[in-house]
Amino acid sequence: NSLIVSFGEMLIDFVPTESGVSLAESPGFLKAPAGAPANVAIAVSRLGGKSAFIGKLGDDEFGHMLKDILIQNGVNCDGVVFDRAARTALAFITLRPDGEREFMFYRNPSADMLLTESELNLELIRKAKIFHYGSISLITEPCRSAHLRAMEVAKDAGAILSYDPNLRLALWPSAEEAREQIMSIWEQANVIKISDNEFEFLTGHETVDDETAISLMHSGLKLLLITLGRHGCRYYTKHFHGTVEAFQVKPVDTTGAGDAFVGALLCKIAKDESIVENEASLKEVIRFANACGAITTTKKGAIPALPNEEDVLKLLRGA
Ligand code: ATP
Repeated sequence: NSLIVSFGEMLIDFVPTESGVSLAESPGFLKAPAGAPANVAIAVSRLGGKSAFIGKLGDDEFGHMLKDILIQNGVNCDGVVFDRAARTALAFITLRPDGEREFMFYRNPSADMLLTESELNLELIRKAKIFHYGSISLITEPCRSAHLRAMEVAKDAGAILSYDPNLRLALWPSAEEAREQIMSIWEQANVIKISDNEFEFLTGHETVDDETAISLMHSGLKLLLITLGRHGCRYYTKHFHGTVEAFQVKPVDTTGAGDAFVGALLCKIAKDESIVENEASLKEVIRFANACGAITTTKKGAIPALPNEEDVLKLLRGA
């Protein structure tokens, strides 16, 4: 069994056709399927792994379009449900001149926020070798309780719990609440991936230092990864820590790099969880995940840019 079940939101990003302009000034928008947990499920499947997505969509054209995208990408949708009344979530994006993205969300409430415990496909969750999730599904009820219950069921069934908080500050009532809630499930996870920005948000330390990173470890945590964009990734286990450099590429759009990284990492762990115990094999896996992240930055959009195994091997061979 190497099934990776990814839980959380899937939505549509409206990406401006021009960067560096305000939402009001943007001449147009292109729709792009989004949502980190859904991206991770597709990243896994693109690499030849087995994945499923659990989440709720609006029973509208956008919701059905998103489910079709999952199916076309080989993701098991037995855990996808539709809300009759609420719409699929939307996010309008501003591409700032510095390349960073800003989000304006339409979630009032959106279907993803309304997933209930009773709608969970428990049978699917129990089949997971790895159960992966973020923190956006923790923001409001009833999805929050569904999220916590899904984690519990996965854990009881022996799954590895994988957590990428994927901070979206604009969605939380306050920064304190975001920090508190993100940390409230920290100690359940066996694998955690955060970015350098999230490290700063959670710890107050501007640069990633080993002492603070090690203080984030807990007894059940087998692997903590801190991604550093074009600087690669730092890794921490109970026995060793270090850095794996990134690949040199010409980035066009970094959207989804983190999700590609996580998908690649989970694919490898699902096949052989002992790789995290050996530093040399872990570094190989992180190098593979870095390559996936790098490739994803070289094309526009997240899902269209996710690599298959051959793309990755090409970059690994060429490097
Ligand atoms: P996002 O939220 O945009 O999906 P993230 O902030 O979670 O991403 P990053 O640290 O940006 O994650 O990227 C994940 C991995 O992808 C990095 O560790 C790195 O290996 C690779 N990567 C990202 N950006 C670049 C880049 N500009 N050049 C090369 N590799 C990159």
